[in-house]
This record gives sequence, C-alpha cells and structure tokens, in this order.
Amino acid sequence: MSKIVVAIDGPAASGKSTAAKELAALLGYTYLDTGAMYRAITFLAQRSSFADDESKVIKLTQNLDLSLRFENGVTRVFANGEEVTDFIRTPEVSNKVSEISRIAEVRIELVRLQRNLAKKGSIVAEGRDITTVVFPNADVKIYMTASVETRVERRYKEFIEKGVDVTMDEVSKLVRKRDQIDSGREVSPLMKAEDAVELDTTCLTVEQELNKIVELIKSVEQNSRPK
Ligand code: C5P
Repeated sequence: MSKIVVAIDGPAASGKSTAAKELAALLGYTYLDTGAMYRAITFLAQRSSFADDESKVIKLTQNLDLSLRFENGVTRVFANGEEVTDFIRTPEVSNKVSEISRIAEVRIELVRLQRNLAKKGSIVAEGRDITTVVFPNADVKIYMTASVETRVERRYKEFIEKGVDVTMDEVSKLVRKRDQIDSGREVSPLMKAEDAVELDTTCLTVEQELNKIVELIKSVEQNSRPK
C-alpha cells in the first residue's frame, strides 16, 4: 500500500497525541494534530476579544492562513505567518475551545484544510471527528479511551510540568466540561465510529499502545495485498 491514513479519536488526555506522534516518527508518516487548529482559532478570537461573537469567529477562520509544522516532537502552529504555538495550550484556551469547536462553519473550514494536508502521503491524524467525518475511509480507525480519573491526572501533570498554576479540582472540571460539550454537540460530536477499534489506555504504557496500533496497521497492509 502506498499511502496509509491512521485516524484516532478520543476524549481529552486519552493518550491520542502521544501515541500519534510516536507512531508518525516510527513509521515516517505525517502527524496531524487537529486540536491545535481549533485551539489556534480560539486563541486568536480571545486575543481580539470576540470569542463570544460567532460571526466574527467564522470570518476569522475563513480568512485565516493556518499552517502546522511538526518539528522535534512539537506541532508548531502559524496563523497568518505568526507563530502561536506557545499560546494555544493554556487553561484559558482549553476552557473555551470546545465552544468554538461547536460552530459548523469553523469545522467546515478546518476539515477542508485537514483533508488537503492528507493528500501528500501517509498520515496519522488525531482529534474528535477524524474517524467519523474527516477520514471516514481511513485504513486504520482507533477510538482511544481512558478512565476520567487517569485523564485528569495526566492533564494535571502536563500543566504542572509547564509551570501552570492549577489545582487538580480545576483540571477535573475542565476535562469533564470539555468531554460533555465535545460528545454532546450537534455537529460532528465525539463518538466511536462503528468500525473503529477501541483502545483503553488506562493501564497501558505508551509502548504497549504503539504495539497494538502497529499490529492493526500490519493487518490492514496484509489484508490489502493481492492474494
Ligand atoms: O485534542 P485537543 O484537546 O487539543 O482538542 C482541543 C479541542 O478542540 C477539543 O476539546 C474539541 O473541542 C476540539 N476538537 C474538535 N475536533 C477535532 C479536534 C479537536 O472539535 N477534530
């Protein structure tokens, strides 16, 4: 097979990004962090103080030149040439991003961009609607989960490592609120695609996660070979 699309969906801190990045590095695929795109729009709208004005957020998205560059394990995000990487993972952006992601017109623009990025070659894409909307015909579809307690702990650790001043209770509220909005929204809600393989990462190491995904990719490759 010349070109493979691996699609991964799942709730916040389910392990998608870590697995997707490692997998992309291992197999030489492009890594696509679609959450970074929704986060960039959110940051820009908040900075311009119009994050609650839907029509302005839509206009911003439609006129934005958004690009991603994956370098040294980090997705660098550029908006009209300006690097916004360091501003998109703050608690403020995390707290608002799910509301921005509900807007259908924002999703249309970003899905178009995501599909364009996949035209070049094999890709590992992760987000909330990758297996259901963006790449419904992906070669490998994974729905990643982990217990909410594990996910809260993982996210809390990430914030603390970055020097962000938050409590476990605040992170717990943040993660649960995002879960609820992302799964409950009308447009492209987070859900397990019928043909996705569910991977519960609560008790798995990253290595074990990767092994399972690589197995899936191998079986797809084998099945697609002429017999
Ligand atoms: O993956 P990450 O946590 O960075 O995603 C941030 C938010 O962006 C999600 O909580 C969700 O609201 C939104 N998102 C989405 N669809 C995607 C990726 C992310 O709605 N494909």
